[in-house]
Amino acid sequence: MSSGPLSLLPHCQRGAPLVFPVWRGIGASGGVGGGWSEGWGRCLRWETAGPGEGPRIPVFDYPVWLVLCRGGRARLREVCQRGRGAIRLPTDMLSIKLPQLFDIHQVPKVFQEDSIISGYRHPRSSALDCVLSSFQMNNETINIWTHFLPTWYFLWHFSVLCSNMNFLTDSYTWPLLVYMLLICIYPFTSSCAHTFSTMSPESRHICYFFDYGALSLYSLGCAISYGYYVMPDCLVNSWLHRHFVLIAVGNTLFCTSLSCYSRFLEVQFPQRSKALRTGAFVLPFIFDTVPLFYRILLCCGGNCSPSEALSSHCYHLLFAFLTCFLFTAHLPERLAPGRFDYFGHSHQLFHISAVVGTHFQMQGVLADMASRKAWLVDHGAVPSLLGTIGALVVSLVLNLGIIGIFSAPLLWKSCHSSNQPHTSPCERKEQ
Ligand SMILES: [Zn+2]
Repeated sequence: MSSGPLSLLPHCQRGAPLVFPVWRGIGASGGVGGGWSEGWGRCLRWETAGPGEGPRIPVFDYPVWLVLCRGGRARLREVCQRGRGAIRLPTDMLSIKLPQLFDIHQVPKVFQEDSIISGYRHPRSSALDCVLSSFQMNNETINIWTHFLPTWYFLWHFSVLCSNMNFLTDSYTWPLLVYMLLICIYPFTSSCAHTFSTMSPESRHICYFFDYGALSLYSLGCAISYGYYVMPDCLVNSWLHRHFVLIAVGNTLFCTSLSCYSRFLEVQFPQRSKALRTGAFVLPFIFDTVPLFYRILLCCGGNCSPSEALSSHCYHLLFAFLTCFLFTAHLPERLAPGRFDYFGHSHQLFHISAVVGTHFQMQGVLADMASRKAWLVDHGAVPSLLGTIGALVVSLVLNLGIIGIFSAPLLWKSCHSSNQPHTSPCERKEQ
């Protein structure tokens, strides 16, 4: 008798009935309902002693409730057929082939990461492979999830704020609106970039262009919220305060341009590329944090007493420095190349540190916003539509333009190379 994958369940023994039915495999035949029926019958059968050994209880070869129905055997057969379909579904799902993984020497240089030796996805993965790969353990999986899950965390905070604040008409909340939008967008964009970065070398560059663009817009969100809520008393209405958002818009253009440009140097001059990219993000960070440094270090005005806001801001600064260190140092994988390919490499820690830092930053901004409202409104520091949502829209359009300029030659190159006879993703993989 043939035996299927689920036939490992023990068969009922006479006098020792089983509770569970026996599945003898999809191809099993014979008896009522093929591979099912005997199992059901045996499992639901009970017997007593033979003639002369006491009262005898009727023996049922199939479930009692089916015998009681008219056409019970036919129904049993139908149930068995349905059962087979239900059983076959998960086995088919399990047979989905997950994408193959590669070592560092098997992928082009543009995909190689410092001190990460294994767990690389195919450099010409299809979009479906990329999505599936987020559920398969590879060297990008944790990078994807460490920014995808926080997106939902910040979205949840945003939805709570939406129900408690009037973002539509209360202009005092607009800097917070811009900030919350951007802290939801930057981890989501990063998660998408890490997911789809292995479709081709060109797509890898374009994915990270968007990642850098989102990060640079996040720096604008910080500047807008700091400019309106965190700015120390003695700098309110100063030249810096009046031009703070405008300079931050300029910073986003500088940051996106330089970080996108740095990708073109990555293969030939990796050190220079890293230095340029780090500089591109450090500059807007330092500029955005000037009001905070001023408040903490110089104890400007009446804002030097310890408060909930200041302690949150200090935690944020701590994690911001840690984030920068992890980004540049490539620790711990540099100490033991290959040991941290899947878990614990610097980029994963960098993501986590950035998200925790953003959490404290959000707490600090919310605390300052609530505690300083009366003073700020009294001193005329009321946010304008142009200085908040207008700055975001202008910056978004200009940054998308920069990303378009850097992406155009890559897209042209990609289209040009795909003018060769068309190949399916599977065929491309064979190349
Ligand atoms: Zn990342």
